[in-house]
Amino acid sequence: MITQKIFNDTETAFKLKSDEELNRGLFLFGMINRPTLVKFGTALTKFSLRFHLPVEGLIRSTIFNQFSGGETMEECMPGIEKMYTKRLHSILDYSVEGKEQEEQFDAAMKKKISIIEFAAKRKELPFAVFKPTGIGRLAIWEKVSSKVTLSPEEEEEWNRVQRRVENICEAAYQNDISVLADAEESWMQQAADELMERMMQKYNQEKAIVFNTLQCYRWDRLQYLQNLHEKGLREGFKIGAKIVRGAYLEKENERARKLGYPSPICENKEATDVSFNGVLSYCLSNIEDISLFIGTHNEVSNYLALQILEDKNLEINDHRVWFSQLLGMSDHISYNLAKKGYNTAKLVPFGPVREVVPYLIRRAEENTSVKGQTGRELSLLLEEKKRRKGESSKATREKYSPSRVKENAN
Ligand SMILES: Cc1cc2nc3c(=O)[nH]c(=O)nc-3n(C[C@H](O)[C@H](O)[C@H](O)COP(=O)(O)OP(=O)(O)OC[C@H]3O[C@@H](n4cnc5c(N)ncnc54)[C@H](O)[C@@H]3O)c2cc1C
Repeated sequence: MITQKIFNDTETAFKLKSDEELNRGLFLFGMINRPTLVKFGTALTKFSLRFHLPVEGLIRSTIFNQFSGGETMEECMPGIEKMYTKRLHSILDYSVEGKEQEEQFDAAMKKKISIIEFAAKRKELPFAVFKPTGIGRLAIWEKVSSKVTLSPEEEEEWNRVQRRVENICEAAYQNDISVLADAEESWMQQAADELMERMMQKYNQEKAIVFNTLQCYRWDRLQYLQNLHEKGLREGFKIGAKIVRGAYLEKENERARKLGYPSPICENKEATDVSFNGVLSYCLSNIEDISLFIGTHNEVSNYLALQILEDKNLEINDHRVWFSQLLGMSDHISYNLAKKGYNTAKLVPFGPVREVVPYLIRRAEENTSVKGQTGRELSLLLEEKKRRKGESSKATREKYSPSRVKENAN
């Protein structure tokens, strides 16, 4: 039985953090904990960047340093190597968003391929990742998802998007690096699901190279997975499943309300938890056919996965099961899992400060809206500060104990 609460070990969680870094974390999560401040800070950041005010230094020394690895792959490497000394892997995520031009999409594809080639030479980097709307307009993904007839120009555009995805997956296959496709808004996801399914058919013949993301706040995901699994069995390909709860909750519910269709999202958080844990259990029960990448900061779901691994007598470092958290968040989960020997990776976003801001804002907003997450980060940081203080007073007491003083005098 997994009864020992391994995530409570703050010494392991923050071993690599200096006192100064702990204080920075406390300051930052303290700020993020205040929704009005996040709203105001977000608006101010957007305004400042739009009008080219010199705020990069401030962004860099606060949220950028907390949630991002650096501006370039090379700049991220010292941090990544440091994490690897604690057996924690990384995934480089070029987090430049919101582009609309074809040349920008081609450049993004090339960047993703260069990351795959970079990762292939480094043991610290077992995965690569891409976001569908980073290589094609949201509008074209949406149109293909809605199954309306495309104009000849749109057909051409869609062919280019498919080719970019194909090139990324082909590079991943050639370099033996697994690739994760992020999931986004439900109204573009159908096209992404179908395309990623075709990529799995092509590249996952022997093992899972291509992973699609399942957002389990959607109530239809277990059924989707079961159908995909049956297809994989029929046609002889493996499934790569990256499972998350989902990051577009408010947007999804608001659109469904506005347009008057039933929301694709579970009715409450508890239902999302049941859905996530159900999908997790299904994957681990079919591990011969489904490789699993678990992206969550939820302790209960992580413990559940450990318990199922134990119940099914699976190796804790089974190559088909990975755990992952975002850089700057839930170090108590990542470092403790890695220390025990579970396959664990931090998702490390990078890119020019200005370009990474939309990603950083999402993280800050998510931390504000996700009930309990920031409070947990704060309490762990405080606990570690207290523990270090206790350690240093103990060391001082020992240094000046009568027996030690006498020993030194001799
Ligand atoms: C490595 C990694 C990769 C990720 N990749 C993606 C991705 O590709 N696409 C994506 O969308 N997200 C992605 N995310 C973000 C993820 O979807 C979650 O938003 C985030 O991790 C918080 O969920 P949790 O399981 O960690 O924590 P928890 O705190 O347990 O869950 C919070 C989540 O529960 C759900 N929730 C909260 N309130 C309600 C409610 N009232 N009703 C229904 N559901 C509710 C929401 O999804 C919310 O984000 C990723 C996260 C990680 C760690």
